[in-house]
Amino acid sequence: MHRKEKRPGINELRTYLSANSMDLFEEFAYHLKREYDLSCAPAVYTMNYGWVFRFGRSNLYLIDKIKIIGDSFCIDDICVEDRDSLTAALKLADTLYAEGFGERLKIHSAQKSAAQYERTKSRLEREKKEIESMSSKINKNNFNKYRWSPKISRQKLKTLYENDAKMLQDEELIDDIGFALYARCLQGRDERVLIETGKVRCHNCGKILNYSKGLMECDCGYQYLFRDYMRSFRKNNMPSGSAQHIFNNFIEKWQCAQNYSVKMQIIDELVHEFHINLVTGVKGRFVGINLIEGTKKQIEELIVSLAYSNTYKDSKDNFMHNLKNDRVSK
Ligand SMILES: [Zn+2]
Repeated sequence: MHRKEKRPGINELRTYLSANSMDLFEEFAYHLKREYDLSCAPAVYTMNYGWVFRFGRSNLYLIDKIKIIGDSFCIDDICVEDRDSLTAALKLADTLYAEGFGERLKIHSAQKSAAQYERTKSRLEREKKEIESMSSKINKNNFNKYRWSPKISRQKLKTLYENDAKMLQDEELIDDIGFALYARCLQGRDERVLIETGKVRCHNCGKILNYSKGLMECDCGYQYLFRDYMRSFRKNNMPSGSAQHIFNNFIEKWQCAQNYSVKMQIIDELVHEFHINLVTGVKGRFVGINLIEGTKKQIEELIVSLAYSNTYKDSKDNFMHNLKNDRVSK
């Protein structure tokens, strides 16, 4: 992999590796994720080997030079091309972890969280002073007030599936749920784009405000701090980020969905989707968190318990399979 221009992600990797090597690479990635919670970091360019891949956590790498040679990937002098060489590569990774890396990672993580704690403390002090210096301009009733499109209720989703399994097509309920998902996905998508270009949409009147370092004031009287707005976006789990294409896909499909069974199909697909690591393709958090009320555990229990008619059984099977992989990794 020697062309320097573009950092390769999973799609580029697929074009370089043979299908067999790609499977082996994914299996290697799953193993490191499951056993040690190590992920594949974005590729880095080296003079000698071109693009190389690294596996680690918190900027500490267990393996820092996976080279792509021909259509396979190589770790040290092991070129992974079949089961035997994969086993050798996994054994090397296990040995490296057991012989010092695990311990180093533990110490590193402890130091990192201590440093993080100090940074958070001084940030909070700094921000408190900042707010105090603006206090004469802040109108508390209109300051940092957000209206995020709500998540959907677990009970409603449950009722929808129960009815569906009994062949009851509740048109009103499915529209209620679908449009709520649609509004939330749309707001996540649109406001993410605004944030990336340094803008904010006023949640009271809809006007677009340009970034400024201090207080951002809308004509309608509402006031925002850019960083608080971004934090609120994240804290509310607004749909965006690595699963953006999943939400976009729902937006497109929902706009065209004309009958109950199509609507049910696309809602079902959405609630079972997972965020996927863009480098390794490893499945991570499921997107239900961004869309359904409740804790991760409550939502997981709900999705597992949903009563299914046969039409949607495939996605439940996939979901269970992914969840099982996810659980093993804990
Ligand atoms: Zn406004």
